[in-house]
Amino acid sequence: MRATPFHCPFCGDEDLRPHGETHGQWECRSCQRAFSLKFLGILNPTHATPSERRTAP
Ligand SMILES: [Zn+2]
Repeated sequence: MRATPFHCPFCGDEDLRPHGETHGQWECRSCQRAFSLKFLGILNPTHATPSERRTAP
């Protein structure tokens, strides 16, 4: 699964290019910043609030 950022987290520009050969690293051609995206894990659904669920009528 490839995570692709659509906007630079620093300046909000959309001109993002892959940075180097490392997966998940991107560089912004607008503000000249390089950053990386890291997958931290799956949220545990048991921690979701019960109010999120809706029962069908
Ligand atoms: Zn930027």
